[in-house]
Amino acid sequence: MTFATLGLIEPLLRSLEKLGYQTPTPVQAQAIPAVLAGRDLMAAAQTGTGKTAGFALPLLQLLAMEGPKVTANSVRALILVPTRELAEQVHEAVRQYAENLPLRTYAVYGGVSINPQMMKLRSGVDLLVATPGRLLDLFRQNALKFNQLQTLVLDEADRMLDLGFSEELANIYKALPKKRQTLLFSATFSDDIRLLAGQMLNDPLSIEVSPRNVAANTVKQWVVTVDKKRKPELFVHLMRKGKWKQVLVFAKTRNGVDALVEKLQGLGINADGIHGDKPQATRQRALDRFKASDVQILVATDVAARGLDIEDLPLVVNFDLPIVAEDYIHRIGRTGRAGSTGEAISLVCADEVNLLSAIEMLTRQTLKRQNEPDFEPEHRVPDTDASGQVVKKPKKPKKPKASGGGGKRNLGKWVDSGEVSAPEPSVKPVRKVPVFNTGPRKRKP
Ligand code: AMP
Repeated sequence: MTFATLGLIEPLLRSLEKLGYQTPTPVQAQAIPAVLAGRDLMAAAQTGTGKTAGFALPLLQLLAMEGPKVTANSVRALILVPTRELAEQVHEAVRQYAENLPLRTYAVYGGVSINPQMMKLRSGVDLLVATPGRLLDLFRQNALKFNQLQTLVLDEADRMLDLGFSEELANIYKALPKKRQTLLFSATFSDDIRLLAGQMLNDPLSIEVSPRNVAANTVKQWVVTVDKKRKPELFVHLMRKGKWKQVLVFAKTRNGVDALVEKLQGLGINADGIHGDKPQATRQRALDRFKASDVQILVATDVAARGLDIEDLPLVVNFDLPIVAEDYIHRIGRTGRAGSTGEAISLVCADEVNLLSAIEMLTRQTLKRQNEPDFEPEHRVPDTDASGQVVKKPKKPKKPKASGGGGKRNLGKWVDSGEVSAPEPSVKPVRKVPVFNTGPRKRKP
């Protein structure tokens, strides 16, 4: 199968040739003909599957071949994405695909001045990539009209709900023409996503290119157990031992990102961080430098790193496990992309045992544990497996005090999940934010 046999026009084929795309990926093979035929789509596809081209190519073709010329402040196709970085990334892909077509494309997102965006929209754009909040701001300030809108794409729909965008989505939905084509892409399909799909899609074609909720099998994954306070030390040790060249590291909080970056920089290691508290320009610069290999270690919170496509990233480290198990799949999806192999290492402390268990249950695998000599935790991480069980072993009988140490290594205190000092929030792999409901908004993680 080739892109030509899927019905793509010559200007797009030329762009693909320039980009070196030879064969359509499975999601492209299914999505492209369906979108060209005008169908609504509900696609379960992780990042790394080629889904962006799966919706962008046929969308550009429809825009080029059909419909009226775009009028002032109007937009003919809208791609909604959860984060600013993803908006830039998707728009960059669109720009490359559309190189030989007479179409105007643009991206809008928050964290930067709205005025240049308003100016740019004045003459109308054929395809707009947007984050939901800024899109609504522009709409409310009459910088945007939707009367010419023919296609809506919801990219990473699950993440948009996770980030509390359900209210914005509901308001955007109300402002759109009822007659339109809608494509929904989501890495995972929770009940809330199905509800959203039920409201927004019309007789959609369902596409599922990878088994539901299963992590990419091109990624070698393992866990190193360690005490919480020794994580930075273990990270540096593993980095030096493994001679890591380029690593994307996930930490749970903004403070966690800053603390690790400071520690690494203090050791002369070339590290930078991105999280929601940093100005957009700083975030983008750090990311660009990381992509250009000018930064060796990029430490990020989940929101800042979602959906990013970084070529040939060999290694992802979970410095902290994610609170929402599905984020594990997204995180490790940053490596092992487009058929290459990758590694994902998680540093896990006793407090995180329930998070580990939720991840294993979701991905239906027991993650291999590999202890690092000299870093065995004092607070042992109880055994877990893919059934979601946290195995509570009986405490070891205490040795009589009189027996003496005899030079034996102290293998540490036995801790079961009941003894965990700071329990994490419930980690059932389900969505917490109801669709179209005004849940508390998790801004700028
Ligand atoms: P995505 O899942 O859309 O983020 O795409 C992941 C990566 O795969 C991007 O770097 C794309 O440029 C690349 N890609 C997408 N489709 C193809 C293809 N058919 N052949 C080669 N690379 C592709």
